[in-house]
Amino acid sequence: MFRRSPAEMRVIILAPIGRDAALLAHTLTDAGIAIAIASDADALLPLLAEGVGGAIIADEALPPGAIQVLAAWIAGLPAWSDPPFIVLTSGGIPTRQTNQRAQELQALGNLTLLERPVRPDTVRLAARSALRARMRQYEVRSRQEALLQANADLEQFAHSASHDLREPLRSIGVASDLLAREYPHESGERAVELLRLIRGGVDRMDALLTDLLAYAHASSIIEEELPAVPARRAVDAALMNLNAAIRESGAIITIGELPAIKMRESHLAQVFQNLLGNAIKYRRVDQVPAIELLATEADGCWNFTIADNGIGIPGAYHEQIFGIFKRLHSHNKYSGTGMGLAICKRIVEHYLGRIWVESAPGQGSRFSFSIPA
Ligand code: ADP
Repeated sequence: MFRRSPAEMRVIILAPIGRDAALLAHTLTDAGIAIAIASDADALLPLLAEGVGGAIIADEALPPGAIQVLAAWIAGLPAWSDPPFIVLTSGGIPTRQTNQRAQELQALGNLTLLERPVRPDTVRLAARSALRARMRQYEVRSRQEALLQANADLEQFAHSASHDLREPLRSIGVASDLLAREYPHESGERAVELLRLIRGGVDRMDALLTDLLAYAHASSIIEEELPAVPARRAVDAALMNLNAAIRESGAIITIGELPAIKMRESHLAQVFQNLLGNAIKYRRVDQVPAIELLATEADGCWNFTIADNGIGIPGAYHEQIFGIFKRLHSHNKYSGTGMGLAICKRIVEHYLGRIWVESAPGQGSRFSFSIPA
C-alpha cells in the first residue's frame, strides 16, 4: 500500500577509505541489506538525489565538506523526513578533537554513534533499526499524501457542485420568475403560491452550494508561516457584513482588546461573522441581543469567546451542531444552511485550534475557539 522505491530502502556507505567501505559493504550485504557506496561528498550528492536514502552509515572521519553538504541537504527536506545516520567513532578516552567532532556531527540530526571496535552484528542491527525507522517515516508521508489528496478531491467536488449544479438551478429560477411575470392572471393564486415555493427552494439550494464551497475552501491551502493579523480588523470586516442584522435587531456588541494572530484575515473574519451572526440570529424574542467578544491568553493559545443572551442550546447538541448541515430548527423559523459552525470548526482546526460551546436552553450561549499564539 505504501510507496517505497528500492533506491529509498538501502544504506548509503560514506567512507573515504576503500578498505573500510568494502568491510562495511560486506557486513551489510551478508545480512541481505542493499547498499550503495560514496567515497566523498561529490559522490554522495547524486546518490541522495536518486532517492532519499534509507539510512546513511559513515565514519567519524567524514570526508571534508561532507557534514556541510549533508546538513544543507537535511535542511531542505520536508517535515516528515528525518534520515537516520549511523556514525562509527574511534573508541578510547575522549579528546578535545573527538569532542569537537561529536559536536559537528550533531548537525546530522537523527544520529546513532557506534564506538569502535564494533561487532558486525551490532552494525547490522543498527542498520536494520535505522531502515525500520525510515520505513515508518515513509508511511507517515503516504498517509499525509492520502489526506492531501482527499482534501483536494473534496475541494474539486465542491467546485463541481457549486458550478455545475448552479447552472440548472439558475435556469429553474429564471423560468419560474418568467412564468410568474408573463402569466400572472391566467395562473391563479395557487400557481403563484407554487412558483413562490419554487423560488424559495432555488434560493435555499443556492445558499447551500455557497456554504459547501466555503467549507471546502476552509482548509484547502497549505500555509507557510503566516504574518500575524490584528483580530480586530477581521471582527470589523465581519461587523460590516452583519450591519443590517445588527441594526434590525438593535444588538449591543461589546468587544474587548483583541490580539494579532497568525491566520488568514478572511478565514478569521468568516469565523467571527458566523459566530456573531448566530448570536444575533438565535436571540430571545423578549430581549435585545447583548453580545460580548473577549480574548484571553492561556497555555500558549489565544482563546476567543463570544457570549450571547439568546435562546441557548441543549447539552445533547453541543457536539452535533458543529457537523455539516446540522441544524436544530426548521428554516421557516430561522434561516440558515447548518454549515456555519462546520465551516468555523474546519477553519479553526486547520490552524491547529479547537472550538466548543457552553450553553443551556434559555441561558444564552458561549462559543469559544482557541488558536496557538
Ligand atoms: P445555521 O445557523 O445555518 O443553522 P450553524 O452551523 O451556524 O448553522 O449552526 C448550527 C445550529 O446550532 C443552528 O441551527 C442553531 O440551532 C445552533 N446555534 C448556533 N449558534 C447558536 C447560538 N448562538 N445560540 C443558539 N443556538 C445556536
